[in-house]
Amino acid sequence: MTVRNNPFTKLELRHLEMLFDASKEGLWDMQPDGSVKFFNHNFYKDFEVNINASTLKEWQALIHPDDRASFSNNVSNQTLNGIENFVSEYRVRNRRGDFVWIEAKGVAKFDRQGKFQYMVGSHSNITNRKNAEAQIYHLAYHDQLTGLYNRAMLVKQLIYEKHDQMLYLNLSKFRTINDTYGYERANEVLRAFASILKVYFSEIGNVFRVDADEFAILLPAVVEDAKLKSQLGLVKEQFRLALYDLGTGMEIDINIGRAKYSELHETTEGSLRMLDEAKWAMLYGKKRGYDYCINYNEEIRQHTKRVLFMETGILNALQYNEFYMTYQPIVSLGSERVAMMESLMRWENAQYGMIAPDEFIPVAEKTRTIIKLGEFAIDSVCQTIREMLDNTDINIPISINISAIQLFDSSFYHYVLEALSKYSLSGDHIIFEITESVALDMTARTIEVIKRFRALGIKIALDDFGSGYSSLASILNIPFDFIKIDKAIIHKMVLDSEIKIFMGALMYLCHSKGLMVISEGIETAVMCDQVAELQTDYLQGFYYARPMKAAEAKRYLIENSANETSV
Ligand code: C2E
Ligand code: MG
Ligand code: MG
Repeated sequence: MTVRNNPFTKLELRHLEMLFDASKEGLWDMQPDGSVKFFNHNFYKDFEVNINASTLKEWQALIHPDDRASFSNNVSNQTLNGIENFVSEYRVRNRRGDFVWIEAKGVAKFDRQGKFQYMVGSHSNITNRKNAEAQIYHLAYHDQLTGLYNRAMLVKQLIYEKHDQMLYLNLSKFRTINDTYGYERANEVLRAFASILKVYFSEIGNVFRVDADEFAILLPAVVEDAKLKSQLGLVKEQFRLALYDLGTGMEIDINIGRAKYSELHETTEGSLRMLDEAKWAMLYGKKRGYDYCINYNEEIRQHTKRVLFMETGILNALQYNEFYMTYQPIVSLGSERVAMMESLMRWENAQYGMIAPDEFIPVAEKTRTIIKLGEFAIDSVCQTIREMLDNTDINIPISINISAIQLFDSSFYHYVLEALSKYSLSGDHIIFEITESVALDMTARTIEVIKRFRALGIKIALDDFGSGYSSLASILNIPFDFIKIDKAIIHKMVLDSEIKIFMGALMYLCHSKGLMVISEGIETAVMCDQVAELQTDYLQGFYYARPMKAAEAKRYLIENSANETSV
């Protein structure tokens, strides 16, 4: 050892060298002139250096080109700026030509004037640790199925990097592919789509798999709309071909939403908005069946705000009594007396005004708050019936719309039993209206559930017949009491004589099966005459009365002396 003021004997030095050789680390000593001496032959024999008389340059030459500049910067920074301790990591080429990861720790010594005197330190091979880290990183930020970046990486990039725009893509009806063709086939579809996205977008951006069938693309720099459009066109075309090659005969639409960078995305919290915006735009387009790229805009913002409000606000609104029931009379053919009423729910909110059931019922079904809303409907309707029985001589049943989720919820039956007993009512005071989509879905189970309610005396109506799910089979198989013909079909019937013929046959069939027919959406005398001609049993619509609050409905009934009729 060419050491300063060496206090050791030769023998002691030899012992020290043997100790170094036995260790797993390499040790080094560097002088101001750049000469380097390495200790621990076992460690350094793997590298092309002159162990006893090397130089900083010789070591530097072995360093990976990508790490070399930062290595040199570190060394000059330390020696010039008087930094005493340091740790750094870089890659060095070994004799086999492979790069290994080295961790270098060192201590530099300076004289009183701050002049660099010498530096000593250690080298250790941290390749295994680095590889494990890389593997963990890969697992943490990549999707295993497609090899694309995953959602965690998307979030990271959104937070730490600025992007001009983001695309959010959804494979529509993918879940049915899973159900119909099985997971393996569905996975092949996902892999095919992922590799097509990579082909067309990895040069201009990063591609992510965000969810089962949802993908995102981040584009850091501006891409012309025309180019984007053509790339997306190619993706669609290639995907169509890939599906054809997979031989499944399946058709999948791609819904795409796009969000552009704005000042709202500047902050850390705001940076993730881009993801929400692109997704909301995609969902907006998906719901409307658009197959082109939808740009996030003010209208989508308003719409999304409203949906989010509904998704989170229903239970609160129930507590604040924002919901109430309205009642629409249903009259008998001929006598035109009110035979029953349909209860229809209303939501009146201070900020959003009236929210229509067609808007909030699907949201309540999605969030399952329909169970609580349904309970509210049952309770309100039973209370209204009780009041009418107590204070008037009106005794007509009121129908309640029941969603599929309620019907198959285990607590629903008991809730109905309790409500009937709370208001001392029997089952024949109420009617359940069920839409046909439910009946279609689960025939065997539906029959069982419906029979249970019918055993309580509750009559069952099939709602919205002809609204798109029409199935004569459900009329024949499921024990309904009433069929309600959807208003859309009634409106079409006035214009189309073929529909009228079909309706006539339908009513005949219903009657022969002992079912009563209610025609909905009667708005004009003409409509009224037409369904009367076809022998409908009951009529409902604005022509007679609009849905009314309980007190108003009660007055209406008294004026129209409802007690003379019953179902
Ligand atoms: P639905 O059960 O088919 O109810 C009939 C709808 O037609 C009601 O709309 C009613 O106001 C409307 N209507 C009645 N007469 C006419 C007419 O002459 N012309 C036109 N154009 N429309 C007429 P509403 O009240 O907006 O309810 C929409 C749907 O929301 C209902 O359709 C029902 O499926 C659902 N819904 C309403 N209340 C409830 C509820 O308490 N629970 C559940 N699960 N669903 C409900
Ligand atoms: Mg109904
Ligand atoms: Mg209906």
